[in-house]
Amino acid sequence: MKPAKGEQLTIALTKGRILSETLPLLAEAGVSPLESVEESRKLIFPTTMEGVSLVILRGSDVPTYVRHGAADVGVVGKDLLMESGDEGLYEVLDLEIARCRLMTAGTGQARTGHAAKIRVATKFVNVARAHYSSRGIQPNIIKLYGAMELAPIMDLADEIVDIVDTGNTLKANGMRPLEHIADISSRLIVNKASMRTRNHIIASLVERLGTAVASRRDA
Ligand code: AMP
Repeated sequence: MKPAKGEQLTIALTKGRILSETLPLLAEAGVSPLESVEESRKLIFPTTMEGVSLVILRGSDVPTYVRHGAADVGVVGKDLLMESGDEGLYEVLDLEIARCRLMTAGTGQARTGHAAKIRVATKFVNVARAHYSSRGIQPNIIKLYGAMELAPIMDLADEIVDIVDTGNTLKANGMRPLEHIADISSRLIVNKASMRTRNHIIASLVERLGTAVASRRDA
């Protein structure tokens, strides 16, 4: 796997769990940053593979960079991908890392009726609207950027839509998961135009990452 002479390939990642779990997979595919991404404040990193660089973004910005072709390839949680939509990009590989669930949660019992107009606090506005609509509910959605668990306690909302892993955060705030919306893991996404123009290197990267993912699954 090597870009043609002068060809550039940019891979967008996010700091935190996705970065620490993606770097070993990329290393197996032959791509390692030339300096420690975790310790540096830089946002662009050349790698051991000439022409291939990593850029560090906020998770919700990864689909935007890839959609517009500012980055060719990205790694992003399925939750953020569902929220942003897949226009202009292909979801090519499930990296099977950073697994969690996207759920509704509340303080009381699961709803039984469809009629009630409920208030839902979330940063996943589009996902939440689609989920409640599929149950015949048109909720009043309240967009938040964090600490969703606080919204029912402060009577800002009746329910929330949020990421759940162990469920400890919900429990610590007197809430419990109600409805499962989706199983989440990190996905490799590719800009549609880049997929055509850099097909050789991208296909090779996807194949190597796929092999690295499969070998972990079998380990
Ligand atoms: P937990 O208490 O284990 O259920 O974790 C819940 C909180 O951790 C959520 O509010 C999320 O913000 C965060 N979280 C856990 N797993 C992930 C993940 N895979 N991706 C993003 N955020 C996560």
